[in-house]
Amino acid sequence: METQPIPYKTFRFNQLWYNQAWLAPAFVCLDERGCILSISSETPTEAAAIEYVNGIALPGFQNAHSHAFQYAMAGLAEQHAPGTSDDFWTWREAMYQCALAVNPDEVEAIAAMLYAEMVRHGYSHVVEFHYLHHDKDGKPYNNLGEMGERMVAAAVTAGINITLIPVFYQKGGFGAEPQARQRRFISRTIEDYFHLLDDSAEIVKQHQHAKLGFSVHSLRAVDLEDIKSTYQQGPKNIPFHLHIAEQKKEIEDCLAYTQQRPVEWLLNNLPVNERFHLVHATHLSDEEVKNLAQAKADVVLCPSTEGNLGDGIFRMKDYVRYGGKWCIGTDSHIGINPLEEFRMIDYRQRLITNQRNTFEGNAAAYLVQTETTNGRVAMGLGDASPFEIDQAFHAVVYNAASPLLANTSNEKLMASIVYAADSAMVLGTIMHGRWIVKENRHVRNEVIQSAFAKAMQSIKNR
Ligand SMILES: [Zn+2]
Repeated sequence: METQPIPYKTFRFNQLWYNQAWLAPAFVCLDERGCILSISSETPTEAAAIEYVNGIALPGFQNAHSHAFQYAMAGLAEQHAPGTSDDFWTWREAMYQCALAVNPDEVEAIAAMLYAEMVRHGYSHVVEFHYLHHDKDGKPYNNLGEMGERMVAAAVTAGINITLIPVFYQKGGFGAEPQARQRRFISRTIEDYFHLLDDSAEIVKQHQHAKLGFSVHSLRAVDLEDIKSTYQQGPKNIPFHLHIAEQKKEIEDCLAYTQQRPVEWLLNNLPVNERFHLVHATHLSDEEVKNLAQAKADVVLCPSTEGNLGDGIFRMKDYVRYGGKWCIGTDSHIGINPLEEFRMIDYRQRLITNQRNTFEGNAAAYLVQTETTNGRVAMGLGDASPFEIDQAFHAVVYNAASPLLANTSNEKLMASIVYAADSAMVLGTIMHGRWIVKENRHVRNEVIQSAFAKAMQSIKNR
């Protein structure tokens, strides 16, 4: 006789987003590891300890682009002296100063605070696009992967799942040597970078909920021949990320250097496919929009950062028409609420088209479904949908007692969450079957906050 594992715990939610529809009510039976044994609207016959949650559960969101240390300067670059110009490139100077200011303990404390805040907003996974490799003098730490190890430790503390992506950063611009203030980022050769990648792989191996990706920072930050070799000689089974076409100046510099636009160069020189995750891709020609979508590449949009930095507006409406794939990231962390990212994706199209129908059908369902599915691919988790038998159960739960949500039909529920909910309507976030944040309070609130406060005091930038 075949016996099934005895459920360790069962959650009962009012609604759960499952197979592109609401399951109501939803019983989720879990084993001791927090993995899903069954999902059903029927009361399970063999259910240990049912926890009744007056809540609406969605899969945890995927944050596919983060530079954690930049959280230390969120909100600090918003004062503009009269008569001076301020743009991405002046912001970048402030960012370099921040990058030069932090030691490994401080980076870990900042990242743990940031990741805890991400979990509070419903993110279950983060890609750390990590280029702060060396010490303040630019000297590699004895443990080359020291800073990456701190990122993984921070994720463990905060209870978020991490994909660590050590970044190959080599140049100061197209054909230009790196500047002194970029010294903490630099791998001089492909061999140096692969050494860093190997060490990062070892770190990730030691943690059950960590994964690895690889990357080049951007076309401007790595020699173009080395970009090709990095991809060709790199691992064949993990995601490849890079920044691309974020700023107009980057397009002009790339055209001057290669006679091609950045995305055009990438499509002409590498076998762009579903393993490619292009961060921003803001400025695209008609051909690039179409070819990128047809290559099945993924674009990682970071709307609040792109807005904050004055990057420009991604051609979402055109891209979606060609079936293009996308997900989101919070990049500089000026905003870390996924619902705000969704709204900006939609509203920036509405503002430039004077139309409301950016997406056909149920826009909110499309946004959540697409982001969580493609975001998982960007993490290196494969393309299985988030709530599947035997997978760890990660969910963000909205408060079904919130007046607006309590009085909304299932048909209108997702739109009410995506377009009208705020973070006060989040009841909590469940990771591996356990509440990590409940009623806005992280289970490790005190220790994470006090380490962050100590780090902020020693950096003295706030
Ligand atoms: Zn970035």
